[in-house]
Amino acid sequence: MRGLMQDRPLSLPHVFHRAEQLFGHKTIVTATVTGRTRTTIAEWAVRVRRLATALDTLGVSADGRVGTFCWNTARHLELYLAAPCTGRVLHTLNIRLFPEQLVYIAEHAADEVVFVDRSLLPLLLPLIDKMPTVRRYVVIDDGADHAVPDDERFLDYEELLAASEPFEGRFRVDDENTAAAMCYTSGTTGNPKGVVYSHRSSVLHSFFTLTTDGPALSERDVVMPVVPMFHANAWGLPYGILMAGADTVFPGPNMTPDAILELLASEKVTVTGGVPTIWMGALPKLGEHDLSSLRTILCGGSAVPRSLSEAYREAIGVPMFQAWGMTETSPIATTGTARSHHDELDEDGRADMRARQGHPVPLVELRIVDPETGEEQPWDDTATGEVQAAGPWIASEYYRGEGGGAQFTEDGWLRTGDVASVDRYGSFRLVDRTKDLIKSGGEWISSVELENEIMAHPAVAEAAVIAIPHEKWVERPLACIVVKPGQSVTKDELVAFLEPRVAKWWLPDAVEIIDEVPKTSVGKFSKKTLRDKFSGYRID
Ligand code: ADP
Repeated sequence: MRGLMQDRPLSLPHVFHRAEQLFGHKTIVTATVTGRTRTTIAEWAVRVRRLATALDTLGVSADGRVGTFCWNTARHLELYLAAPCTGRVLHTLNIRLFPEQLVYIAEHAADEVVFVDRSLLPLLLPLIDKMPTVRRYVVIDDGADHAVPDDERFLDYEELLAASEPFEGRFRVDDENTAAAMCYTSGTTGNPKGVVYSHRSSVLHSFFTLTTDGPALSERDVVMPVVPMFHANAWGLPYGILMAGADTVFPGPNMTPDAILELLASEKVTVTGGVPTIWMGALPKLGEHDLSSLRTILCGGSAVPRSLSEAYREAIGVPMFQAWGMTETSPIATTGTARSHHDELDEDGRADMRARQGHPVPLVELRIVDPETGEEQPWDDTATGEVQAAGPWIASEYYRGEGGGAQFTEDGWLRTGDVASVDRYGSFRLVDRTKDLIKSGGEWISSVELENEIMAHPAVAEAAVIAIPHEKWVERPLACIVVKPGQSVTKDELVAFLEPRVAKWWLPDAVEIIDEVPKTSVGKFSKKTLRDKFSGYRID
């Protein structure tokens, strides 16, 4: 017997029309090069409709890729809807990638047009003759004064919109499995690989962002995604915000801690999200701003140090809300919210709990598997295994079959390359990325846990631990630390601090003081760069 419910597609036009119809009075604020712009959803929606027509005028094919090279702005959000609602595929290019990677990605995705913020022209201009599939570049004027080339491929965004009549009626995407957006993984090994989100996966993930054990976005919120819109679609926040009808604040090009904190305070933001390095950078300045409106700081992309979360709780009463995921998982797959069985915990226990990656979110299934035997591991918080994921917003393969399927199991689960243990309530604790684990004398040392303990030292601002080859033990840990301004710590002091906190054989054999931990294109600690820097390093 079949169910008798209406078979309506889960597609982004619903998100657009819902926002337009119900939340036209809500606002979108964008910090620009020269100030701040304010628009309503009603005004924004008319511009999305104009852009939809403009994409036709530009001759973008029916399912053509629409590249964006932009900061987090209301204009970028116009593209976020206009491209998929007309059947095209939004392709957010990561502005911080190396030129060769950008050229590779734009060609691999076959971008037909690229929308670029004027302040980012200097990064893109040297590449335009190396992107053969791109026929048009549309410059979005964000107040920067970089010259726009006198080249017929270049158009002005405002002129384009002014010349385009708003699309009339309702957008329709009938097949919910149509591609809506794509994002390339940063490709720490080999070329970046394309992850293609569907309308269905985007709508379901947005719906999740409204749930209570998720970010719980609601109409009453003011949400500021600090995480870039080219990093796994800003963790799905933009579509979630529109679905909820929240007010939005976009930080635009100025990503300094001062600018971010000033915006959070003056726009009375309630929910924000970004990688740990953003919040580490802002930590010393917290006291200078009134952040009393904030209720949630979504944090993930790399392990969230316990000390960071605690520092925020102590300073502003809001610890980090940890989530775990990857570009391939849309990206949120677990959240670290407190459960009823945590009620008994004291403050210390809660801080431990928040340092975990947390529980699988609804519709996502996770398992841990021994990579060698393929056997599923028990959820006893001791056994570890590779995290594998399945669900309607988890990738089933990469664009154009890149990677030859190696990252997927025979039964169709995604192999995440992360190693974790799970407690009996299903809370995940990430031990490490497989490639970052330190193999010492046949046992594993978790670089994540060691970093967590090192960053608990009051003089340490940042710490990254990498493996150094060792004759006897195969590998041993090298701790690279950044010391807080005006403070100091020696290797012996650090080791003495760690002694009661970690197993003896985990103690780092060497400590290097560095000026700054190198970061990846999405602001995470780049262990690869550190490994390259210290490749020849010897521990005797
Ligand atoms: P990249 O590979 O460029 O870092 P992703 O953003 O897709 O791109 O990274 C996903 C990876 O980030 C995960 O596989 C995991 O190793 C790490 N990660 C994400 N969230 C967390 C978290 N909360 N704790 C620890 N690691 C995390």
